[in-house]
Amino acid sequence: MKLVKLIANLGYGSRKEVAAMFREGRITDAQGEVLYADDKVGHEVIRIDGEPLDPPAGMTLMLHKPVGYTCSTKDPGRVIYDLLPLRFRARSPLLSSVGRLDRDTSGMLLMTDDGALLHRIVSPKAKLAKVYEATLAQDLRGDEGEVFASGTLMLESETTPLAPASLDVRDARHAALTLTEGRYHQVRRMFAAVGNHVDALHRSRIGGLSLGDLPAGQWRLLDAGDLDALF
Ligand code: URA
Repeated sequence: MKLVKLIANLGYGSRKEVAAMFREGRITDAQGEVLYADDKVGHEVIRIDGEPLDPPAGMTLMLHKPVGYTCSTKDPGRVIYDLLPLRFRARSPLLSSVGRLDRDTSGMLLMTDDGALLHRIVSPKAKLAKVYEATLAQDLRGDEGEVFASGTLMLESETTPLAPASLDVRDARHAALTLTEGRYHQVRRMFAAVGNHVDALHRSRIGGLSLGDLPAGQWRLLDAGDLDALF
């Protein structure tokens, strides 16, 4: 791929703007030697104003989504892209969220520009476990774990029962729910179905990958080891 296209695809500017950056000598190699638009060099040696390039296509990141952000590109309020470098919005292929978290849910959100990987993660066949920490408005009754594990719970306006889910009760108003599917507002609707209300919801884990100590609003790139842990 021509360097102008490669750099423009990473969101640094239109092809015209990137061509101007070459003319201005802002694009160099690691030793500071000016590069030209038709040079043939690897992604890793390129610097823009002395800074290494963003990761190439095929990038996946983990974002600790705070409450109050929507998983959308165009929403009048705050969106998850506001938490990433501005140019990430202009990358081609696009960086999309792997599934969604509600505006009022915090926690682990994966984002990738790798369509095949996205598919693999969200595919019902993958049955990747997702762990949600729920804070409840009412004390648990005691039978919720059994109801959720039964594989017979039907949510309103759905035609098939939910897959068995496991509930780990921490105390009367706190529990971790592990799901292997992802229906619309599933956790909130499951607790509503047993007469409760979710006051706060946080996703702490997907597959073998946990949020760890990543602070709210921060993100980090996933490496091959992280992806191995995921599946
Ligand atoms: N279930 C919900 O109800 N909300 C989320 O954001 C994720 C799962």
